[in-house]
Amino acid sequence: MAGVIRRLDEAVVNRIAAGEVIQRPANAIKEMIENCLDAKSTSIQVVVKEGGLKLIQVQDNGCGIRKEDLDIVCERFTTSKLQKFEDLATISTYGFRGEALASISHVAHVTVTTKTADAKCAYRATYSDGKIKAPPKPCAGNQGTQITVEDLFYNVTTRRKALKNPNEEYAKILEVVSRYAIHNSGISFSVKKQGDTVSDVRTLSNASTVDNIRSIFGNAVSRELIEVACEDASLAFKMKGYITNANYSVKKCTFLLFINHRLVESAALRKAIETVYAAYLPKSTHPFLYLSLEIDPQNVDVNVHPTKHEVHFLHEDSILERVQQHVESKLLGSNSSRLYFTQTLLPGADCSSSEVVKASANSSAVTKGTSDKVYAHQMVRTDSREQKLDAFLQPVNNLLSTGPSEVMTEVNAGPPEGAVRPQDAEMEDVSDLVEMADVEDTVMPGGLSESGHLSPETVPPRKRPREDANVEMEKVDTRKDMTAACTPRRRIINLTSVLTLQEEISNQAHANLQEMLHDHSFVGCVSPQWALAQYQTKLYLLNTTKLSQELFYQILIYDFANFGVLRLSRILKVAGQKMMAQKKDLQSTLWSF
Ligand code: ADP
Ligand code: MG
Repeated sequence: MAGVIRRLDEAVVNRIAAGEVIQRPANAIKEMIENCLDAKSTSIQVVVKEGGLKLIQVQDNGCGIRKEDLDIVCERFTTSKLQKFEDLATISTYGFRGEALASISHVAHVTVTTKTADAKCAYRATYSDGKIKAPPKPCAGNQGTQITVEDLFYNVTTRRKALKNPNEEYAKILEVVSRYAIHNSGISFSVKKQGDTVSDVRTLSNASTVDNIRSIFGNAVSRELIEVACEDASLAFKMKGYITNANYSVKKCTFLLFINHRLVESAALRKAIETVYAAYLPKSTHPFLYLSLEIDPQNVDVNVHPTKHEVHFLHEDSILERVQQHVESKLLGSNSSRLYFTQTLLPGADCSSSEVVKASANSSAVTKGTSDKVYAHQMVRTDSREQKLDAFLQPVNNLLSTGPSEVMTEVNAGPPEGAVRPQDAEMEDVSDLVEMADVEDTVMPGGLSESGHLSPETVPPRKRPREDANVEMEKVDTRKDMTAACTPRRRIINLTSVLTLQEEISNQAHANLQEMLHDHSFVGCVSPQWALAQYQTKLYLLNTTKLSQELFYQILIYDFANFGVLRLSRILKVAGQKMMAQKKDLQSTLWSF
């Protein structure tokens, strides 16, 4: 049975149309921000309540709206930006259809407060279903416009129900505003929830694009950015932006794409670029991309529907290919000299300052002292092969001659060994350290012998990491070196006090622990404090602080008077008694571990 065709009520038509333009709070905010940008604002502040469902307030400092225009500003197809159809081809504003405010006013309560430069005061008006409710009222206000949207979708129950989660809506809002903020450096943006004092997104008008990326996406992204820029006159397009290099890879791709300054999406372009990255990034990881394309407006259909984000343009394939080539060339350039934030705790390495090792694809050049500070916990081991902790513990010539503070840094920064206690065993002897210290034919300082029982079948450990890391070590002038390493003979110590302490250590040594430290395999660092080591079939958590304290204490006792001369840049206070007291303390904690 055929239905009867009736003309829809105008209000219903408008509401349906509005629902297509404004589907969620973030759409409304995008439209409002575009209006602020069209009005040449330099500051745009967004405040929302309940993810924008209760309240959206957008304040700018732009040109304002003339009092005479306030009557019709929310009517459909009223715009100050387009007069003739021909203007469309050269339009440089975001808006031109005069549809956004009208749509919003059909699904929410809108209040506009605005002041132009030459008006004596600001005016305020409220709107409903596109119509002004009462003549504009004069009020106080700065130049610019503030638009308040309350109770979004109050009259569209289905939509209201679909948007139940204000947090999700708020996240969308932050996403939209932050993208516009990055694309519009020079204009300050902020978004916050009503009542909050701090903004969740905030950019400053004097900040650069990279500054804005940093403040929104963090340093991890911003420090790996490569600038891209290319153009092709024959294809009538220009591209610029920032993309991350091969050091950066995350699970989800972030792609900020602006075409002719509109935030859009292009699955084809995304795919084209991701194909290039696939050769550089670990499997199923993705880059961060911010690209701004300017394409001859005649080649892009600007008359797309406001909610239609997916764009297509003339010469699409050729343009994609050019972009691909450019991205590839940039990535290739960045790949030949990757930045690694390395761990420099390998024996002999200078670890007094943070270091960035620039490992070129085919050379092993080292650059030192670059800006970013690398903290111990951010460092990674560069040698994946099995390695004993001994390698990290044996101080070598270079190291000692640089002074004790650096010895400490090295141990603290790295994965030295730590205290473990095999279950239910008693402490007896940590004689590895004891015996090491006793060996006379010292090759290394601190009495540690390569010919000793430390991993005898392996290459001398101190050399291995150096080669592996491809790092050129600083040569230290040893001519005037008076350290233990260069002092040919050991002094024999017969001081009763020292001998007693030595005896005390060997009496307390723990055989199992000793064996374990001897034969363990280092697994990795859990935190600056804790390291994992495997011994036989068990994993042990090592307290690196405690173990290195004990180690240094034992080195102190067994190498007493055999340290040579240590040149300190700063004079240290010596508090002998206190140290002894601490040592006792330490031992008791270690034993009870
Ligand atoms: P469009 O942007 O397509 O013109 P809108 O419905 O978004 O349509 O806006 C209608 C008109 O309201 C604009 O043409 C502009 O004149 C005025 N307007 C809206 N927002 C602002 C603003 N923040 N500052 C100045 N004028 C504004
Ligand atoms: Mg608009």
